[in-house]
Amino acid sequence: MGLNWFRVPKDIVFGEGALSYLAGLEGKRATLVTGGSSMRKNGFLDEAKAQLEKAGMEVSIVDGVEPNPSIETVVRGGQEMAEFGPDWIVAIGGGSALDAAKIMWVYYEYPDTVFEDLVAGKFPKLRTKAKFIAVPSTSGTASEITAFSVITDTKNHIKYPLVSYEMTPDIALLDAVIPSKMPAHITANTGMDVLAHAVEAWVSTEATSFTDPLAYEAIRLVLKQLPVAFKQPNDIKAREDMHNASALAGMAFTNASLGLIHSLAHKIGGEFGITHGLANAILMPYIIDYNRKATNKVEELEKQLGIENLTVAIQDLNKRLNIPLTLKEVDEVEINEKEYLEVIDRMSKNAFGDPCTLTNPRQSSPEDVKKIYECAF
Ligand code: NDP
Ligand code: MN
Repeated sequence: MGLNWFRVPKDIVFGEGALSYLAGLEGKRATLVTGGSSMRKNGFLDEAKAQLEKAGMEVSIVDGVEPNPSIETVVRGGQEMAEFGPDWIVAIGGGSALDAAKIMWVYYEYPDTVFEDLVAGKFPKLRTKAKFIAVPSTSGTASEITAFSVITDTKNHIKYPLVSYEMTPDIALLDAVIPSKMPAHITANTGMDVLAHAVEAWVSTEATSFTDPLAYEAIRLVLKQLPVAFKQPNDIKAREDMHNASALAGMAFTNASLGLIHSLAHKIGGEFGITHGLANAILMPYIIDYNRKATNKVEELEKQLGIENLTVAIQDLNKRLNIPLTLKEVDEVEINEKEYLEVIDRMSKNAFGDPCTLTNPRQSSPEDVKKIYECAF
């Protein structure tokens, strides 16, 4: 019928000590899902467990979610949950832990799920067994807000962006003290992911009056506060602004979708294992310039922000964050001349087919995508 939707989690709880919200939940069992070791080391995993126990719940932990989580990891997590039977799934960690927990949730409720169906956007109805709470530890992906999860087929080096409003978390808990423990380079990369989300939602062909103000405010906050959070990790105001910016950008892009920056970043992430935010940061200036021809919203943004040139502003920001100008300067990108042509060809075709391409303001072709990759290399 051509109707549009604006959907975000029912509750977004923010402020220092947000984890105490967990003590007020009702239920018998909760499963915490987390990544490697950062949440344990910094005491946040214990704190979350203690709060859930205060609520009278038995708690299990599914840990070891790796960056760029694999299909194997989400299937394993689903099995562990099925043995325990949680009423609540509480994901605490970076985008990888949150994304993985979402798909574990699907496998928990529907153990016979076929991964290809999820890739095709066929999601079953969730919340038959558990509700979902997300506690982000990076200010980046906004997985705590979004209907997205990115899962990697590690055998074939393909990252799959999975999309369904079913996966939108029930509750997001935002405490800026948690991301303040990020090392500087992770602050930089994840922060540039926020900027990419906001910029892509702003120029998206599906942008609306509901998403524009959120995207705009996220861009304003990142340009102002990311350099501060990078240099002064304990500046809690800058951390708070970045954490909120991430969620605001998430509210925009989960409803307006993304564009070519993410299409190209997904493929290069799958091919070389390069960090998601870093790939976005490097690609962003090239794609903004590519899109300028097709939309006046870049210019509109520059006027509203009072800056001369968004591309230049982002290049400057990258410099201040020690982010290189080209992809070949990234350590993970090791490639010889012969492979280069093959890889660029394959990535261009795959990136063109990425769902994020659909809402990019400039209609592109695999050849256009290839040209952008060539410039960015
Ligand atoms: P990750 O979750 O991959 O975490 C990266 C690293 O940061 C890990 O080593 C992690 O350690 C560490 N870390 C996380 N938080 C802290 C902290 N507070 N203190 C210290 N170290 C910390 O990073 P991202 O958040 O950038 O997530 C990236 C993933 O999200 C990619 O797979 C990407 O494709 C996906 N993505 C999802 C989107 C969505 O809408 N769902 C949108 C965009 C990207 P440890 O493992 O020990 O915790
Ligand atoms: Mn992203």
